[in-house]
Amino acid sequence: KIAIVGSTNMDMVVKAERIPVPGETTLASQFFMNPGGKGANQAVTVARLGGDALFITKVGNDVFGRQASRLFDEEGIDSRFMLEDPELPSGVALITVDKEGENSIVVSQGANKALLPDDFTQPLLHELEQCKMVLMQFEIPMETVHFIARYAASKGLKVIINPAPVQELPGSLYPYIDILTPNKIEAGLLARVEIKDTETAKTAAGVLLARGIKKVIITLGAEGALIGDESGMTLIPALKVSPVDTTAAGDVFNGALVVALANDKPVADAIRFACRAAAISTTRQGAQASIPYYNEVIAGVMR
Ligand code: ADP
Repeated sequence: KIAIVGSTNMDMVVKAERIPVPGETTLASQFFMNPGGKGANQAVTVARLGGDALFITKVGNDVFGRQASRLFDEEGIDSRFMLEDPELPSGVALITVDKEGENSIVVSQGANKALLPDDFTQPLLHELEQCKMVLMQFEIPMETVHFIARYAASKGLKVIINPAPVQELPGSLYPYIDILTPNKIEAGLLARVEIKDTETAKTAAGVLLARGIKKVIITLGAEGALIGDESGMTLIPALKVSPVDTTAAGDVFNGALVVALANDKPVADAIRFACRAAAISTTRQGAQASIPYYNEVIAGVMR
């Protein structure tokens, strides 16, 4: 079983010619409301790719929370530990996508901000201990990520952290991390290295490894992903596709990566599988709507 501890949001997406600059108003050509949140997207990816997903998240006592709960059931995600905050609204994300498929996102965390270490009661911790690995992102409080990373590591689970949206990690968190999976921008900010090409990505990976992480995987969009660990650095190329919406590419990458690792695939193979799944998702609209199923990844169904 794979535990995912993270956010649930409702994504409100507008498609526009371009992303407006500050002070500008632009007209959208389309509007969609899609279930999202990095945690939920990654949990749905795990489930669609055949993984056994335990999703720990917090929503509000509102229509978005109830809808999310229904969707997780339909996806076959174990959401017995989906928590509900009595006061805060569910998280929402406001997303603008331009005609190139590039995006710009503002997140209102709502109940996600209230997922705290105290929520991890004995039954929940017991359930977590049965898992092989735990995957987290930064749309929930850092103290929760830190608490779970330390707890999970002490119980022998692999800890995979997708540092998005990027925030400074406490130095004490690094040693609990088996795999850190930043994108280019996140890796650049965390390592304080401007990533312009593969060489500078390798420099950033080196800086992050020196902080005590076992492996770092930097996703490089259409370039693919760079894996760095004590045995060296390798670039795994992306699939060539024509993206229409890259909203959940990183989430699909992370979900697919942990499914392959949970199936004991070597990390390079797991990254190839993740690149394939993520590339397919960029050829489709939306966050969860774009997440492929296992057979589609194997067959390379772009749609
Ligand atoms: P994020 O979505 O978090 O910004 P990236 O843009 O690095 O992360 O994308 C994550 C992964 O998705 C990449 O490693 C790659 O495998 C795949 N991907 C993203 N954009 C493209 C693209 N334009 N073509 C092919 N694959 C892509």
